[in-house]
Amino acid sequence: MLSDEPSGITVRTRFAPSPTGRLHLGHALAARVAHDLAREQGGHFLLRHEDIDVSRVRGEYYAQIEEDLRWLDLHWNEPALRQSSRLAAYAAALDRLRLLGVVYPCNCTRREIQDEVAAMVAAPQGPEGPLYPGTCRGLSDEATPPGMVADGSHAWRLDSRKAAKLTGPLTFTDLRHGTQVVNPDLLGDVVLARRDIGTAYHLAVVVDDAYQQISHVTRGEDLLPAAHVQRLLQALLGLPEPVYLHHPLVLDAQGRRLAKRHDALAIATLRQSGMSAAEVLARLGAGDF
Ligand code: GLU
Repeated sequence: MLSDEPSGITVRTRFAPSPTGRLHLGHALAARVAHDLAREQGGHFLLRHEDIDVSRVRGEYYAQIEEDLRWLDLHWNEPALRQSSRLAAYAAALDRLRLLGVVYPCNCTRREIQDEVAAMVAAPQGPEGPLYPGTCRGLSDEATPPGMVADGSHAWRLDSRKAAKLTGPLTFTDLRHGTQVVNPDLLGDVVLARRDIGTAYHLAVVVDDAYQQISHVTRGEDLLPAAHVQRLLQALLGLPEPVYLHHPLVLDAQGRRLAKRHDALAIATLRQSGMSAAEVLARLGAGDF
C-alpha cells in the first residue's frame, strides 16, 4: 500500500480518542489501523487524548483508554499527548488565521442558527445536516482587533470561501479514496474556536498532527469531510500535508455507527464478558486497508 512512498519516510500515525467515554469496537478498529500501519513500516504509533472539551471530559477515562489499548496489545510510542496542554499553540494558530483575515467572530446561538436555517429557502447542507448560514460573516472587520482571540465572548469561524481563495485549489491523498479535491463548501464556515474553550476540533487536530509529525492520518470514514477543512487549514498555516486513510466504520446490527449508546460493545464490557483481545480484534472485520 505504501510502496510508492519516497524511501526514508518515517511513518508516524496516531489514535486520538476523547476521554469522554469508554472505548468501543469502533475505537478499537481506528487504533488498530493506525497501529498496524505504523508497525508494518517500522514507524511510530502515537496516542493523543482529545480533551479540550472540559465540560465532557471525565478524569477516569484517560486511564481506561490506556488500559484498553494495552489489553488489545496496541502499544504506543512516546508519552500520550493531551490537547488540554496545548491551548497556547491553538491560540497562536488562531491568531495567525486572524491576521490572514480568514476567520470572523460569531455570536450566534445554536437556536438562532436553527431559526435562520429554518427561514431560508435553500439553506446550505453538509454531510450531516445544515451548515452555518454565514450570518456573522462580513459583519465584523472592525470588530476584531488583535488580542480579541478567545476572550470568551464569541466563537471564531473560518471564512471558508475567503480561505480557499487565498490558498487556491488544494487536494489531499487518501489511501482508500484516492486523490480528493478540497471542497471548501463541504463543511462551510466551521467553528475553529468555541467561545467557552478558545479552540475546537479542526484547529487543534491540524496543529497537533503537525506538532507530532504525523505522516499518515488514519481514522473512520465519517471524518473524510473533515479532511477537506483540515487540508485548507494546513495550507493556511503552512503546515505539512499528511497522507490520509479513512477506513470503514464498525456498524451495529442496524447499520448505525457505534456511539456511547453501544455500551455493550465497549472494550471493557467485552473483556469482562470473558472475550480475549484476539477475539475482540477479530470482531472488527478489519480487512487490509
Ligand atoms: N477524536 C476523534 C474521534 O474519536 C478523532 C479525530 C481524528 O482522528 O482526527 O472520532
